Amino acid sequence: MNKYDVAVIGSGPGGYVAAIRCAQLGLKTVIIEKYNTLGGTCLNVGCIPSKALLDSSHHYYDATKHFATHGIDCSGLEVNFKQMIARKNEVVAQTSGGINYLMDKNNIDLLQGIGSFIDATHIKITKADGTSVNIEAAKTIIATGSKPATLPFIKIDKKRIITSTEALNLSEIPKHLIVIGGGVIGLELGSVYKRLGANVSVIEYMPTITPGMDTMLSKELQKSLKKQGVKFYTSHKVTSVVNNGDEVIVTANNKKGIPTEFKGDYTLISVGRKPYTKGLGLSAIDMNVSENGQIITNEQLQTNIANIYAIGDVVKGAMLAHKAEEEGTMVAEIIAGQKPHINYNLIPGVVYTWPEVAAVGKTEEQLKEEGVNYKSGTFAMRALGRARASMDLDGQIKVLADAETDEILGVHMIGARAADMIAEAVIAMEFRASSEDIARSSHAHPTFTEAFKEACLAVNNRAIHS
Ligand code: FAD
Repeated sequence: MNKYDVAVIGSGPGGYVAAIRCAQLGLKTVIIEKYNTLGGTCLNVGCIPSKALLDSSHHYYDATKHFATHGIDCSGLEVNFKQMIARKNEVVAQTSGGINYLMDKNNIDLLQGIGSFIDATHIKITKADGTSVNIEAAKTIIATGSKPATLPFIKIDKKRIITSTEALNLSEIPKHLIVIGGGVIGLELGSVYKRLGANVSVIEYMPTITPGMDTMLSKELQKSLKKQGVKFYTSHKVTSVVNNGDEVIVTANNKKGIPTEFKGDYTLISVGRKPYTKGLGLSAIDMNVSENGQIITNEQLQTNIANIYAIGDVVKGAMLAHKAEEEGTMVAEIIAGQKPHINYNLIPGVVYTWPEVAAVGKTEEQLKEEGVNYKSGTFAMRALGRARASMDLDGQIKVLADAETDEILGVHMIGARAADMIAEAVIAMEFRASSEDIARSSHAHPTFTEAFKEACLAVNNRAIHS
């Protein structure tokens, strides 16, 4: 039986990063993955394919709506959806193949099959053909991720009533896509199909979309997407979803309890994701799991079984690839005897719609709730020369800083390239910068990043361009 210092179960961004860091630290490591391709949800049916389709559909949307103004004639433009999906698949294959390369490069053994605990130090790996191997591991990192959640009365048939996984692989552009859940995944995939010509209706239970984000972002994003033609039904509670063959009928009650019927050819269920532990054999080792299925860990991400850790979507916290990666690194270093730390307050959140939305730190609502004395500065993208040059005028940046110390407490951006620009805010906050620190740093002109500097200047009422 092969013996390892560390076994990692699951090859998503949590698992593969943990495995690489373990190997870098000199630990004999094996990674166990049930699917044929590595990379987990993120690479196969999440971050990467969704961004590939968002980029393709963005090109098409720009070409149809904006190129003429730029002086580029694109008449006769058509979508070759089959090719768009094929390119997306190619991007996924290349990215996933890159993980195989990294496993090889770092001398990490790969075992394909479902990993399940025999006891705390032995794992059985059952391959697709039914054969199995057992291994011994001194330490194990569980990184088995999550699966799409649904509502108790909705039966996902994967044909008309679909999850994000199917929405990334449709054979046609929907005529009317009904999106249940106005969170990140629903809005990103809704944007893809809206840009490609579908009617898109988003039904959200809460009064605002992207619940949990700063209200300024939710409102601005809804305004921008509305302009693009997405229809929103907030404060609507879905009560039934029925597949009638070629049509799906969704019924939702508004605030007053009055039902509305929506008819579409596809319904995307994007009401969140749930931790995935099926097949792991957790009962064999008496592992503590919360009511909603999350593996319970302490601050060091150690489970109630001392030599077993859990990371990523399967534990508490934001279900984000970069959060899983940080946790993978942290656990590997803890196993190697180091004392790493993650500042969960500084894990940025991004929505890859256009305009993009990105945020880090506290929302204004949170600061109010916590009774923190803060000051705020905002700057509108449309005041930037760069925004006018590229015709990306929508959006703004809001900076929240401590009223006394001026330390930046939260940054909320909506606008072109916000997904990339948020990194500056994360770094600033990691180094506990004040808004004045940013305001006094030179930002290249003309760039979108000037909006962050200006919002920081605005915190002390001294923005230059507004
Ligand atoms: P996963 O990526 O889910 O990987 C878990 C792996 O474990 C899987 O490969 C699974 O097959 C394997 N596994 C499970 N059980 C076993 C077992 N018993 N034995 C062997 N293998 C097993 N996040 C972002 O940060 N940015 C984005 O832009 C983004 N976009 C997204 C878009 C969509 C449509 C979706 C669905 C998600 C998106 N996410 C995004 C979320 C992101 O994909 C997840 O947060 C991330 O993949 C979690 O990583 P993980 O390593 O915890 O688990």
